[in-house]
Amino acid sequence: MMTQYLAVKKEHQDCLVFFRMGDFYELFFEDAITASKELDIVLTSRGKTEKDNIPMCGVPHHASENYISRLVKKGFKIAICDQTESAENKSSKLVKREVTRIVTPGTLLEDNLLESKGYNFLMAICDEADSGSFGIAFIDISIGDFFTEAKNIEQLFSAIHKIQPKEILVPERILRNDQISKIIREWKVNPMPDSRFSLRSSMERMKSFFEVTTLKGIADFSESEVCAAGALIDYVLLTQKKELLSLSRPKKLCESEFLEIDPFTRKNLEIFQTMRGEKNGTLISTIDRTSTPMGARLLLMRLMHPLKNALDISERLESVRFFKQHDATRNNLISILKKIPDIERSLSRLLLDRGGPKDLGAVKSALCLLPSIKMIFASHKECWSIPNEISDAISNINSDLGEFSHKLSTAINDELPAFLRDGGVIARGYCEELDELYDTHFKSSELIQRLQEKYAQETKIPNLKIKRNNIIGYYIEVSPSLSSKIPFSFVLRQSLVSGMRYSTQELIEIEQKLNVAYSEAIQLETSIFNGFIEDLRSLTEKIRKIISSLAILDISSAFALLAEENCYTEPVINDSDDFEIIGGRHPVVEQAYKNSYESDFTKNDCDLSKKKLWLITGPNMAGKSTFLRQNALIVLMAHIGCFVPADRAKIGVVDHLFSRVGASDDISRGHSTFMVEMIETATIVNHATSKSFVILDEIGRGTATYDGLSLAWSCVEHFALSAKCRTLFATHYHELTELQEIENIACYTLSVREWDDKIVFFHEIIPGSADRSYGLHVARLAGIPTNIIHRAQQVLDRFENRL
Ligand code: ADP
Repeated sequence: MMTQYLAVKKEHQDCLVFFRMGDFYELFFEDAITASKELDIVLTSRGKTEKDNIPMCGVPHHASENYISRLVKKGFKIAICDQTESAENKSSKLVKREVTRIVTPGTLLEDNLLESKGYNFLMAICDEADSGSFGIAFIDISIGDFFTEAKNIEQLFSAIHKIQPKEILVPERILRNDQISKIIREWKVNPMPDSRFSLRSSMERMKSFFEVTTLKGIADFSESEVCAAGALIDYVLLTQKKELLSLSRPKKLCESEFLEIDPFTRKNLEIFQTMRGEKNGTLISTIDRTSTPMGARLLLMRLMHPLKNALDISERLESVRFFKQHDATRNNLISILKKIPDIERSLSRLLLDRGGPKDLGAVKSALCLLPSIKMIFASHKECWSIPNEISDAISNINSDLGEFSHKLSTAINDELPAFLRDGGVIARGYCEELDELYDTHFKSSELIQRLQEKYAQETKIPNLKIKRNNIIGYYIEVSPSLSSKIPFSFVLRQSLVSGMRYSTQELIEIEQKLNVAYSEAIQLETSIFNGFIEDLRSLTEKIRKIISSLAILDISSAFALLAEENCYTEPVINDSDDFEIIGGRHPVVEQAYKNSYESDFTKNDCDLSKKKLWLITGPNMAGKSTFLRQNALIVLMAHIGCFVPADRAKIGVVDHLFSRVGASDDISRGHSTFMVEMIETATIVNHATSKSFVILDEIGRGTATYDGLSLAWSCVEHFALSAKCRTLFATHYHELTELQEIENIACYTLSVREWDDKIVFFHEIIPGSADRSYGLHVARLAGIPTNIIHRAQQVLDRFENRL
C-alpha cells in the first residue's frame, strides 16, 4: 500500500495527498506533519521505513470537507485519492486507488467552501510575444461562467483587482518579468510550464471542448486570450479529473463597453469593502435587496462591469421602472424568488458528478416554482407593455421543461438525505421495483423485531435486544450477568463490559435478506438519480438560460424595492456631458442616519452642466468628502441600471470614474502617504477625458504647504482647461479660490455658523468659499485640552498676521 501511496505522491508533489483508507483519509510523511500542525490534529505513525516510523495523521472521510476547506483557505492544494473499487469483491488485499480530484482555491465547488453571494474565480494570464499585451481568462467552475479579456500591462493590475481571483495560473516565463511579478505577487499564483500556454494546443483544446471548427464563431479572441483560456480549461480538467465538465462558452469582455473604475477608486468609494476591510457599510451591502444567490452575484458582476452605453443602461432602468410601478407584481415575484435555492451551483455540482440528493432537490424546487412565476406575468400580459429585458426573461422561464420538472417532482422526495448511500431519495410510488425492495427491507425489520421477542421469551431475558452496528452488523445483546441463560446455539461475537454480543443462524439469514434488499434499493435509487443527471446534461443550456433570467428578474425587482424603500429616482442617462443632481444623498450615510433616527441626511444639489469643475472649500467635518463620494456613487449606481438617491438626476454617460479621497500609507509596496497620493493623482491626470467624472479630496496634503498648494493649483488648471472632465475638487487651500476666474470653475462651500464660540455644521452646499478652516474648533471638539487650543490660537494669529 505504501508503494501505491508513494506512486500517487510522486505524481502530485505540490499537493497534500488525502489517501482513502476505509472510513478515513490518511496523510503520510511530510504531508502528515504539515496537516497535523495546520489542522491541530494528532500526529501518529504507521509501520516503519528502514529506520523510522512513518508519520501519519487522518481525518474521517465524512467530515473531510471541513478539514479540506481549512487547508485550502490557507493556500494548500489537496489531491483526493479515493478507493476506486470495492474492497469486498477483492481477492487480493490491495484495492485500486486513484486521484479523483485536486482541490485548489480556484476550483472549489462545495457550498460550505464558497461565499454564497460571491464569485470564486480562477484566472489565467498569458503574455503575447513582444507586444506588451496580455490575454486573461477567468472562470468560476461552481457556476460555469467563463470570460476573457485582452489587456495591456497598465490595465493588468486593475483587471486583477476587479476580478479578485482566488488563484492565478501563469506561464513560468512571466515570472522573469519584474513588472508583472510585482503586479501578481499579492495573489495566489500558480506558475505552470510555458508549454501549457502554447497557442496550438490551446486552440485545439478550445475547439474540441466547445465542439467548434473555428473559434471565430464564439468571439474574436486575441492569441494570448486563446492561450490563457486553453490553459485554464486544461487545468480545470486536470483538477476535476472529469471530461464531463460543462462550461458556458467564453464571453469576451471589451473594455470599450464598460465604465472603467480603477482599483484606487473602487477602494476609496468602498464599493465592495470598507477601508477597514468590512462588508457592512459598503455600497453593495446598502443596495443589495436581492432574494437569490444568483441575483446577488449578478449585482456583484454589474458593479464590477457598469455599462457605458446609454441605451443599454436605459433598458435596465426600464425594467426597474416596471417593477416600481407594478408593486403587487413585484412583491408576488419576490415572495417566490425568496424560495428559490442556489440552483446555479447545484447544477454545476450535479454536472460534475459531485452533486448529492440535496442538489437535485434544489433543481426540483426551483423548476417547480417556475409556473407560479409564469402565472404572475400571464395574468397581466395584455394590460401592460412589459419591457424587453423582462419579457425575454419570462419567455426563457416559459421554455418547455414542464415534462422534466413534473418527472422530477414526482420522483424526488421533499426531505432528502445528504448522501445517496443513505437511501430515501426517490419518492414512493415512482418506481414499483424500488417500492418492493423497500417493502422487503421493512418486512425484514419486522422479522428482526419478532425474533427479538421470541429470543427474549425463550431465554427468559426480557431486556434481550437485537441491535446493529457498522462493524459486526446485527447481534443479540444481553448484560454479562445474564450470559449463563444463553443457549449453546448462540455464537459469541464480542464480549464487552457493557454487554455480551451473540449471533444465530436465523439472525444471519434475516440480515442477509435485509442487506440484499437494501443494497439493491440503493443501487436502484442511484441509477434513477443518474438518469436525472443525464437528463440535466441535455437540458443544461436551457436551465442556464432560466437561471440567468431568474437573476435578471431578481435584480430588477430588488432595485425597484430599494428605490421604493429609499425614495430613489430614475436617472436620465444620455450621451451629453451633463451632470445635474437635484436633492442628492449619500446612499450609505443616509442609511446610517435612518438607522440611528438622530436627524435627516441633508440633501444637496450638484450641477456641473455649466461649470464643469467645482472647487469646494470648507472646514473639516462640514461634509465635503460625503458630498464628493455621494456624487461618484450616484454615477456608479446609474451606470449599473439602478435608481439613485436623489430627487432628480440627469447624467451624461461617464467613461471612467476616478477618485482620490483621503490618504493612507501602502507600506507593503514601500509607498509613503504622499507617494500613494501622487500615484493616484498621476493615474487620474494621465487618463481622465472629457467624458470622465473625477472627485479629488485634498491633493497635496502630504507634503510641505507650498509644494502641495502648487501641485493642487496646476492639477485644477489641468482638469478645468485641458481634460475638461466633470470634477469635484475639495481643498483646504483657500488660495485656490482665485482660480474661479477661469470660466469652467465654480467655487462652493459648506454652510457653517459660529455660535457661542462653537461651530455648527449644516452640511449644505452653497456657492462661495470658506474664509477659514476652523481646524482649531474641530480639534476642540475632538478633545484637545483648552490650554493647547489656546496656545495654538496665539500661534495661528501670529502666522496669519505675518502673511
Ligand atoms: P469633511 O470631508 O468636510 O471633513 P465629511 O464628509 O467627512 O466632512 O463629513 C463629516 C460628518 O458629517 C460625517 O459624520 C457625515 O456623516 C456628516 N455629513 C456629511 N454630509 C452630510 C449631510 N449632507 N447630511 C448629514 N450629515 C452629513
